[in-house]
Amino acid sequence: MSRTVAFIGLGHMGGPMAANLVEAGHRVLGHDLVPAALNAAAGAGVEAEASAASAVAGAEMVVSMLPAGRHVLGLYDDILAAARPGTLFVDCSTIDVADARTAHERAGAAGMRALDAPVSGGVVGAEAATLTFMAGGGEDAFAEARPLLEAMGRKVVHCGGPGAGQAAKICNNMILGVSMIAVSEAFVLGESLGLSHQALYDVASTASGQCWALSVNCPVPGPVPASPANRDYRPGFAASLMAKDLGLAANALREGGVRAELGLRAAELYADYAERVGATEDFSGIVRTIRDQNGEQK
Ligand code: NAD
Repeated sequence: MSRTVAFIGLGHMGGPMAANLVEAGHRVLGHDLVPAALNAAAGAGVEAEASAASAVAGAEMVVSMLPAGRHVLGLYDDILAAARPGTLFVDCSTIDVADARTAHERAGAAGMRALDAPVSGGVVGAEAATLTFMAGGGEDAFAEARPLLEAMGRKVVHCGGPGAGQAAKICNNMILGVSMIAVSEAFVLGESLGLSHQALYDVASTASGQCWALSVNCPVPGPVPASPANRDYRPGFAASLMAKDLGLAANALREGGVRAELGLRAAELYADYAERVGATEDFSGIVRTIRDQNGEQK
């Protein structure tokens, strides 16, 4: 069924996601603060709206894809009054679990329905419509959003009530951040012991050390030809995005009083690393920092 969707935030992720909704036959009313982003989306068939409020006023559903929680809450404050009662608000941004729950509350208080539905799969997944969506919210909201999410992604999981999608996202990425550091430390230890990268890979990738950070995104060049290490660590998944997601995990750990020493330490290490390389390096490039720090200590 064709729907009229407002899409707010047409950046690296939102632009191609909105284009895939158009491709699937939906009418998309788009808005972004940056004119170049709005123009690019218009080129893909999105109807450019001068404000978020005007986009939302004519829509049955609202999708947002913004940088952080403060942008999402600011947007909701601006547009909830402009939407038709009962409109479904689907936020696909990666934000704090606490902010996501606040967004649900504000939408509910204004007579709207809401779903948090962050994604994994990056810009490549956004362009190819192969994203994974992790959704939090009521059964009805999920059932209504599902066909739209399936037009933008390959896998859609209902993780639970409000905030559960964001919770799944940061827990998954905490595993990823910690495991990338563990794999990188193992390669650096192997180097100091005279073990070749290929030998460690051949053993660990088929033994109990196996994980995505090793067997798909291998942080040293050679064993996995498609991994970013083979192209001087061009992303891939940028260090700055890993640092952001681990920061959200660290916030949730502190707020919940949960002790998780490796998760907190990974957040610190990635914050330092991303401060130096920003979005220019894949997060697997942290192996070079670990190697360099060892060189300095010798
Ligand atoms: P981006 O900066 O490219 O896009 C965000 C867009 O939102 C920008 O174009 C900006 O102008 C616009 N914007 C901000 N405030 C606005 C407002 N009030 N109204 C209208 N437009 C507004 O960022 P991105 O890479 O597309 O990421 C978006 C979200 O997706 C982030 O939360 C990020 O963590 C998450 N994410 C990104 C990736 C990735 O690989 N880039 C992967 C998974 C998740």
